Amino acid sequence: MPVEMDKIVSLCKRRGFIFQSSEIYGGLGSTWDYGPLGVELKRNVKEVWWRDVVYNRDDMEGLDAAILMHPEVWVASGHVEGFTDPLVDCKLCKKRFKADAISTNENKCPECGGELTEARQFNLMFKTFMGPVEEEAATVYLRPETAQGIFTNFSNILTTMRRKLPFGIAQIGKAFRNEITPGNFTFRTREFEQMEIEYFVEAGTDQQWYEYWVQERFAWYLKYGINKDNLQVREHAPQELAHYAKCCSDIEYLFPMGWSELEGIANRADYDLRQHSIHSNKDLSFFDEDKKQRYIPYVIEPSAGADRATLAFLIDAYREETVRGERRVVLGFHKSLAPIKVAVLPLLRNRPELVQLARTIAEGLRKRFFTKYDDTGSIGRLYRRQDEIGTLYCITVDVQSLTDKAVTVRDRDTMLQDRIPLEALERYVMDKFS
Ligand code: ATP
Repeated sequence: MPVEMDKIVSLCKRRGFIFQSSEIYGGLGSTWDYGPLGVELKRNVKEVWWRDVVYNRDDMEGLDAAILMHPEVWVASGHVEGFTDPLVDCKLCKKRFKADAISTNENKCPECGGELTEARQFNLMFKTFMGPVEEEAATVYLRPETAQGIFTNFSNILTTMRRKLPFGIAQIGKAFRNEITPGNFTFRTREFEQMEIEYFVEAGTDQQWYEYWVQERFAWYLKYGINKDNLQVREHAPQELAHYAKCCSDIEYLFPMGWSELEGIANRADYDLRQHSIHSNKDLSFFDEDKKQRYIPYVIEPSAGADRATLAFLIDAYREETVRGERRVVLGFHKSLAPIKVAVLPLLRNRPELVQLARTIAEGLRKRFFTKYDDTGSIGRLYRRQDEIGTLYCITVDVQSLTDKAVTVRDRDTMLQDRIPLEALERYVMDKFS
């Protein structure tokens, strides 16, 4: 049974993971700010993704393209014409809804029962103006996906990195969509971050690569601790597919509101490079030296959301338990994702020698692991706080530490404590992470 979203939202606020954007002004709809712990968690999610898809592979290059692109890019990609949702307005309460979310039998406002307008197409791209003049010719868009920056750089990367097919380009970056019905916390927002791969292959091998990437990406979420029962692959039915896509699967997570998309993997055939070749009048084909043939590569696109992945890892890590009569909330993050790796806690904060020793230990460990010193409560309270933010190890400095030159290391999950000599401490913690 997944935890209710309200509990996650409240923990995130209380413990400094995620705050409402512009909160002191009453907030701005569906935009969120990652606080001190949230920024660490999300950075860790992006870092393990980058490590696995770029550093640990021989067939991938990284990219960081600009958010603002030539407006013709969005004509070529089909976004100007087709990146729309049908929208209806309530004539009475003036609220807006996605037409496909309204039951066709009722065709009434789901909030007040009022009469609805005819559906009209609403483009989800945010528009802005480049330069000082606000005129149509100066219109540019905030990118609604990072993918197009990869396609427009395909040729640059192919030649500068002397690549052959198959190879991929990976990118993490912000994307913007003027969603009609944002909601469910950070699940659907108007500003979000994507982690996208475009993997270029020869036609004929595309189906095999598509299946490979579906499996690879599914395994990635399991590797970082998502419970297998909460993850599924849903293949799109033919009528759901975009006109250019050969096939598409969503990796879905069992969010509190039900199974929802975490990542989409699509076989986009040669649609994107072909479109950009036509619109830019540049040759975006690949010359296959072995076959002495020139062709436009097919592309497999695993497209994930950094915010959705972060939310899924948060929800999946959440547990409430009673251990030896003690109730606690734990965020049982994978060790690579936990925002804080080690907390150093003096048992008594009014004993300067203990405080001094604890601070020195924290200083030493900080060079290798993200370490926090905390003396703002009783040890019981400090443990509860560290459990609730998912800190992996708590090191307690007690009075005995001054004489036996050893400290207690408590494991977040087992709550077992080891007494470790100071000179062996760094090695002990390092071994835990190896
Ligand atoms: P949905 O059906 O949920 O609107 P989509 O199919 O439009 O998503 P894609 O265009 O495939 O999404 O984008 C790839 C990924 O980017 C999604 O799987 C999701 O993780 C993330 N994403 C898309 N839109 C949003 C959003 N509004 N807020 C947060 N993340 C998003």
